[in-house]
Amino acid sequence: MNNGGKSIYVFIFTSLIATLVINYYFSLLSLWMLLLIPAVAIVFLSPTWKTTIVVGILGFILIILSEFLFHQRHLLYQDIIYLIITGILEWIIFTVIAFFQIKTERVIIELGNFALTDPLTGIYNRRYLELYMEKIIPLSQEQEQTMTLIMFDIDHFKKINDTYGHHAGDMVLQKIARVIKGVILHSDVFVRIGGEEFIILLPNCSLEHGIKFAERIRKTVENTKFIYKGIRIFVTISIGVTEYTEGQDLEKFLKKADQALYQAKETGRNKVVWGE
Ligand code: GH3
Ligand code: MG
Ligand code: MG
Repeated sequence: MNNGGKSIYVFIFTSLIATLVINYYFSLLSLWMLLLIPAVAIVFLSPTWKTTIVVGILGFILIILSEFLFHQRHLLYQDIIYLIITGILEWIIFTVIAFFQIKTERVIIELGNFALTDPLTGIYNRRYLELYMEKIIPLSQEQEQTMTLIMFDIDHFKKINDTYGHHAGDMVLQKIARVIKGVILHSDVFVRIGGEEFIILLPNCSLEHGIKFAERIRKTVENTKFIYKGIRIFVTISIGVTEYTEGQDLEKFLKKADQALYQAKETGRNKVVWGE
C-alpha cells in the first residue's frame, strides 16, 4: 500500500543520509537512535511484519558497518556494550511503533471494507458502485468502450419470507450472491443495491453480450437448489439489461435498467428484458 507520495521517499532518503553524516562526524554512539526516523517512515509506507524485520536487520548491519568504516578504530569494551544497549533499545522502540502502525493499517482496511460491502452477502454495496462509476465513466468514454448493466430482483421474495421465514429469505440472498459470484468475471462489479435487488456491472461489454450473460444468470438461479431445513425453495429472478450511453450519470443509467426490469416483472417474471 502507498501511504504517501513522492515526498515520503525523499524524506526517507534525506533522513538516512543525515543520520550517516552525523554519525560520521560525531562518534557519540547514541546518535544511531536517529536511524529510527527513516526506519519508522519505511514501515509507514509498508506496515507489515516482514518489512519491520527486514528494516531491523538492515539497520543493525548498517550500524556495524558504518562504525567499522567511519572510525576504523578499536572499539573499547565499554563502547561495544554501549552500542549493544543502544541497538537493543532502538530495536524495542522500533518494534513497538511498527506494531501500532500494523494494527492501525488493519483497522483502516477493515473500516474501508465495512463501508463498501453488504454485511449479509459480503458483496459490494451501493456506495461502492457510486465510487466505481465515478472512476469508470470518464475512463470508458475516453477509451470508447461499451459498458453494460444487469439489474435483477428476486421474484415474489416477500412470499418466500412469509412462507419459510426471514432466515430462509436471508439464506436465499446469501446463496444467490455466492452462486453468481461463481459465474461472473473478476472485473465485473457485483452489488447488492437494496433488499432483494442486485446489479452486475460489466465493463467493456456490449449489450448483446450482456443479454446473453443475463440469460445465463437467470438460468443459473432457476436451476440452483435452495434448501432450507430440508425443504427446497424454488427461486427465480427477473432481469433488466441496459447499455451505458455517453453523458449518463449513475441515476439515469440505473433508471434505464430499472425500467427494463419493471417490464420483465410486468410481462410474467423469470425473464430478461433489455432497454436501449
Ligand atoms: P416482485 O416479484 O414484484 O419483486 O415481488 P417481491 O415480493 O419480491 O417484492 P416486494 O418488494 O413486495 O418484497 C420484497 C421483500 O424483500 C420485502 C422485504 O421484507 C424483503 N427483504 C428486503 N431485505 C431483506 C433481507 O435482508 N432479508 C430478508 N429475509 N428479506 C428482505
Ligand atoms: Mg422482488
Ligand atoms: Mg424489489
